[in-house]
Amino acid sequence: MAKDSSDLFGKLFKAPEMTRTVPVLVPLPVPEAYSYAVPEGMAVEPGSVVQVPLGPRHVIGVVWDDPDADSGRPLDPKKLRPITLVFDCPPLTGEMRRFIDWVASYTLSPPGLVARMAVRAPAALDPEPMVEALRFLGGAPDRMTPARARVLERVADGAVWTRIGLSHAAGVSMSVVDGLIRHGLFETTFLPPPPVVARPDPDYVAPRIEGPQKQAASEIVETMQEGGFSAALIDGVTGSGKTEVYFEAIAQALRTGKQVLILLPEIALTASFLDRFQERFGAKPAEWHSDLSPRMREKVWRGVVTGEVRVVAGARSALFLPFEELGLIVVDEEHDPAYKQEDRVFYNARDMAVVRARIGQFPVVLVSATPSVESQVNGQTGRYHMVHLPTRFGDAAMPDLHLVDMRRHPPERGGFLSPVMLRAVKKTIEKGQQALLFLNRRGYAPLTLCRVCGHRFQCPQCSSWLVEHRFKSQLQCHQCGHSERTPEACPECGTLDHLVACGPGVERIAEEVEKHFPDARTIVMSSDLLGGMKRMRIELEAIANGEADIVIGTQLVAKGHNFPLMTLVGIIDADLGLANGDPRAAERTFQLLSQVTGRAGRTGLKSHGLLQTYQPQHPVMQAIVSGDAYAFYEREINEREKAVLPPFGRLASIIVSADSRADAETHARGLRAAAPHVAGIAVLGPAEAPLALVRGRHRFRLLVHGKRNSDMQSYLRTLLGSGPKVRGTVQVQLDVDPQSFL
Ligand code: ADP
Ligand code: ZN
Repeated sequence: MAKDSSDLFGKLFKAPEMTRTVPVLVPLPVPEAYSYAVPEGMAVEPGSVVQVPLGPRHVIGVVWDDPDADSGRPLDPKKLRPITLVFDCPPLTGEMRRFIDWVASYTLSPPGLVARMAVRAPAALDPEPMVEALRFLGGAPDRMTPARARVLERVADGAVWTRIGLSHAAGVSMSVVDGLIRHGLFETTFLPPPPVVARPDPDYVAPRIEGPQKQAASEIVETMQEGGFSAALIDGVTGSGKTEVYFEAIAQALRTGKQVLILLPEIALTASFLDRFQERFGAKPAEWHSDLSPRMREKVWRGVVTGEVRVVAGARSALFLPFEELGLIVVDEEHDPAYKQEDRVFYNARDMAVVRARIGQFPVVLVSATPSVESQVNGQTGRYHMVHLPTRFGDAAMPDLHLVDMRRHPPERGGFLSPVMLRAVKKTIEKGQQALLFLNRRGYAPLTLCRVCGHRFQCPQCSSWLVEHRFKSQLQCHQCGHSERTPEACPECGTLDHLVACGPGVERIAEEVEKHFPDARTIVMSSDLLGGMKRMRIELEAIANGEADIVIGTQLVAKGHNFPLMTLVGIIDADLGLANGDPRAAERTFQLLSQVTGRAGRTGLKSHGLLQTYQPQHPVMQAIVSGDAYAFYEREINEREKAVLPPFGRLASIIVSADSRADAETHARGLRAAAPHVAGIAVLGPAEAPLALVRGRHRFRLLVHGKRNSDMQSYLRTLLGSGPKVRGTVQVQLDVDPQSFL
């Protein structure tokens, strides 16, 4: 009982100021917490958010649970640096701390880096300042005007208003309010800061669910009423009313006084989702994504820990928000690759959401029109409660899908649109409806070369070709962001004006469309175009309002939007995703193409989808046009099972990078040589990564493949522990359950 006796010692002799030590997770890539001394009189407990000295700096840390608290490991508090301050906010809950430990251990990430995702900058932890406000004292101005009367009418009930709030509410300019203040009709008072968002009301309007939706919602709500952990998978075609169904699960959680987290893959673009939530619950959820201002992030974070914010709709990072009493997580578009973070801590927010729910003993609801194979299997084996919505809501029908065999209906020379596609676009816009042409490639052309010497433009720091962006007159690297002006002459042979663009990007398709339909209103939607998120939101709204005839877009337009007039979706290159060696290529292509074609015909108009392909016999193409998703999953699940691929087997990638190719390769080979022999686990590689060079770093990959029940984490720990020491510029990155193999 070292802790107690030192406490006692401190009390008896009063001399030492530090009496106790605690472990603190600091935001560093180190394997465990550091010990710090607690100054006399400072109250800390596990979960407290603190500031601690670290070298010459101060950092934010979290007091952690002390596994050695009773082991008598004596640490002299006098030799340790003290905690500098404890922030005024509730400590991270035990549930949250166990979640952080779990994620760190599963992904083999330093726990301090995982904890860092859960805490905010110090400003968030200071209480917000009070807001200046006005209280009506009574009386009247010497001269009454209609505007002044409106203001006085507003304040007659004695409520307190801010200056701005009052002028808005009364519909008068600020100077009218100021005039009344000068007349001495108000006194200044202070209000607590306004909430980030209003409280959502589960019974704001009656639920809008019918038929199969009702059945689905009541199954989920019943399971929730039983309490404890449960996982449901809502599987229904685009437009089947899944959102309305999970709104009922949210209402249920709110009624029992719990907080709710809704994960969305592309939150910054889902303004329409927020509106819809507000229609159902009378208030918007708080948003959480990278596009928030720092000030707003602080407010939301604080609202979440204190429990003031009841519902958050956010991108994957919202999963690490330290809710006060989280009671439901919804993962919409659960199959979406955007849930995988591949930076510092490599994790899949969909999978970790299930873990968080299990630790917290509350329900999680996964939602998708095209569930991941992993979730399908979990649904079929009964681990997840599967809820089907087989048809579109109301009179909306799924689009009629057809393949365009590009070998039989090739585009004209230099073009990428088959005559079949062009005819369909023409017919659509003649009817006053909209066409979407989808190509998942930004820019004008993915490769530029010199017709004279064959020189290809490559990124100086990466092994990738530079993509021409003609609107900006630039060549860009999509790996590292490097960009240069498109030159007029070849840098290799000096010949002028002989550079050729190879292959299409959305900008090039736009050029072709403008040639064929010079009078149509055409919009290109791509994340790299000027104006950022704001412009994108405006354009999406314009499209929804019918202010465009032809939309040419990347996957940005594929997600979640509702375009009432869109009756034709044309896929320029349906084969694009099938070419790489990714074991999920077929699944991804199926999901993306289903999602994009699902944009068509959401309001009852007859709609079509056309997929340009050179492989019309490919099982993915066949599955999409037949509409038989079930057959596709059956086949895919069978193949995964045969090859012992996830979820029937386990994968982990080890990516070794270094400034020199030789260093990276030597280290990777060293790891391979150190790999322990364990039945059921095999190490493949090392091989040079398909992206062999990124930002000047050479990359090699090893792939660890295990049977379903193998203990991948212990294996990886042993492997790394017995492998060569990381030296010089070498870096080793682990990716458990990898989604990308580049
Ligand atoms: P999903 O999430 O499956 O793509 P949505 O929930 O967005 O489907 O529903 C598709 C469309 O149908 C939306 O415009 C939605 O407002 C409407 N809708 C869904 N259910 C109902 C309902 N019960 N009553 C009225 N409209 C509904
Ligand atoms: Zn680059």
